[in-house]
Amino acid sequence: MLGTLNVINAENFIKAMSDMQCGKTEIAQISSLDFELKQYITKPIEGYEEPKNFPNCCGKHRQLLQFGKERFEAFPNCCDNHRKLNAAAWFKKEAYAYMPLKLVTTIAYTWHCIAKHIESDDWYKNITDYIEYTRKSYGQFPDGFGAPIGLNFYVNTLEKDIENEKELPVKKKEKLLNFLRKEEEPGTDYEQTDINLLIGKYKEWLRHFPFELSFLSHLKPYFERQMPIHTGKGETNIYTGLTGFKLKIKKQLIGFLQSATLTIIKEINTRKIYHDNQLNDTAGVQLELVLAKRKIELEELDKSGWEDRKDYIKVLKKWLNGEKQFVKEINSAFKDKNKIDFTRDLINGFLGLAEKRHQRTMHRQYKGEQTR
Ligand SMILES: [Zn+2]
Ligand SMILES: [Zn+2]
Repeated sequence: MLGTLNVINAENFIKAMSDMQCGKTEIAQISSLDFELKQYITKPIEGYEEPKNFPNCCGKHRQLLQFGKERFEAFPNCCDNHRKLNAAAWFKKEAYAYMPLKLVTTIAYTWHCIAKHIESDDWYKNITDYIEYTRKSYGQFPDGFGAPIGLNFYVNTLEKDIENEKELPVKKKEKLLNFLRKEEEPGTDYEQTDINLLIGKYKEWLRHFPFELSFLSHLKPYFERQMPIHTGKGETNIYTGLTGFKLKIKKQLIGFLQSATLTIIKEINTRKIYHDNQLNDTAGVQLELVLAKRKIELEELDKSGWEDRKDYIKVLKKWLNGEKQFVKEINSAFKDKNKIDFTRDLINGFLGLAEKRHQRTMHRQYKGEQTR
């Protein structure tokens, strides 16, 4: 975390930490009600030269500074959410006096970044990562106290400036404006996900999946090592070095668990092992399957569980039944095979005997003929 965390409700913070330590939760989570993130100072990218007398260097920067100062004067009585800060014991207006200068500076730095990167191959990532880094640098008020001071001015100024900049290629301009507008409206495609709930669900799956079967046990460490609760590959911001992941929503995790279950049981099963001549101990495997089936049956009896896990349990149960049946059939097939062999040996033996007898008879007949 780049900004400094200012804990507002210490009791909640302590509770979150102790819940994690006693294993109640996997990850300590504190609500954004309980902390404030302080601003941090951003750096310009390489090649930035501060204009002489900055920020009183030109009409544009002077105007922006003035605008910032006026907004700061009005703060926190500028809007309903900020007004609540008046009543917060931890709030001190002087602590935010950096805002007017920060506003001019971050705008100047961002334009330097845009000018420097707009022609490069990965212009979009270079520029939007910088904007994101700057946006985060404005910090965060606890929930309910409004947007960080100065952030809206930064984004709106940038948006207007990009719109009015004639030097920017139209397509790139559009993409940047879309990025800024998307950032402005949080919560459009966002669903509240509880990371502890996701981790819990995955661990539940690990517990239910019959990894105790000797032909599946080698897969367990692989699944134990990963925690598929993120969607896609994480995006690493080139300026902050932080990788952002989107948490899966519960439905997506369940979807993953179902497809993982299906993939494993389709790929690795007794039919395949038999096919590869690896199924030597059918009696042992049969016992394993009986035990695993019983485990799933017992799990199913647990009515306190989640509705949605029924799906993979059902699949597993069905599969285990099939496996058991299959091993049974293999076993009896072995017996049948032995029976056939025995009969064939018997027949062969009998034929062999008959042949010998026949030969002997022939021999005797021949001898008899001779003796006659
Ligand atoms: Zn200037
Ligand atoms: Zn306000």
